[in-house]
Amino acid sequence: MSIADNIKRLKKETLPINVKLLAVSKTKPVEDVQEAYDAGQRLFGENMVQELVEKQEHLPKDIQWHLIGHLQSNKVKYIAPFISMIQSVDSLKLLQEIDKHAEKNKRVIDCLLQIYIADEETKFGLGFDEAVELLRSEEFAALKHIRIRGLMGIATNTDNEKQIKDEYYELKTFFDGIKQSFFRKDAAFDTLSMGMSSDYKVAIEQGSTMIRLGSTIFGERVIKHWKNN
Ligand SMILES: *Cc1c(COP(=O)(O)O)cnc(C)c1O
Repeated sequence: MSIADNIKRLKKETLPINVKLLAVSKTKPVEDVQEAYDAGQRLFGENMVQELVEKQEHLPKDIQWHLIGHLQSNKVKYIAPFISMIQSVDSLKLLQEIDKHAEKNKRVIDCLLQIYIADEETKFGLGFDEAVELLRSEEFAALKHIRIRGLMGIATNTDNEKQIKDEYYELKTFFDGIKQSFFRKDAAFDTLSMGMSSDYKVAIEQGSTMIRLGSTIFGERVIKHWKNN
């Protein structure tokens, strides 16, 4: 199946149930992104700042780029002019930096708090308590150039479907609680980003509103630099 076929098939699957499709194009060349774009895809995700910046320069300006990888504070300035959503916010300090650069660019930047749900030390994200503490803080209340649109989580990389299901269930439950406690009157808090190629069906069953698919759309990633593909 071609990239275009994959986009069309996945749109058919997700549109009727109101789940957004983020095409994760990391390591893939601009030609592949263009093919997905030509098939109607507009939401794309990248995990590296430099790769993201270079790709967006070469691709149509109406693409909505999401950053889904760990973001260092000193790199926020490179993406602040154009980024559509930062899904990987994992500290107050980072959020403050995003706010600062959003203001400089006279914008409000949409963000998701990345929540740590996996049983793996290597994954980034806020714990449940840390997320609540952040949202309660005066420092957070002072930020005027970011908008929290919801939460993002990455499940454990395992074949154990029950474990993945439990992790997504917990995140959905937490999402509902956070919405009740902090965003009850805020219709913009509407995004629960969970689900990748290996587990997106489980994620949708558990209440995902946005799935992030790479290999299902673009094929397996070879571990080469994206420009030399
Ligand atoms: C790479 C990546 C994805 C997509 O992974 P696939 O398994 O190729 O679908 C989704 N989310 C994040 C955070 C990623 O880094």
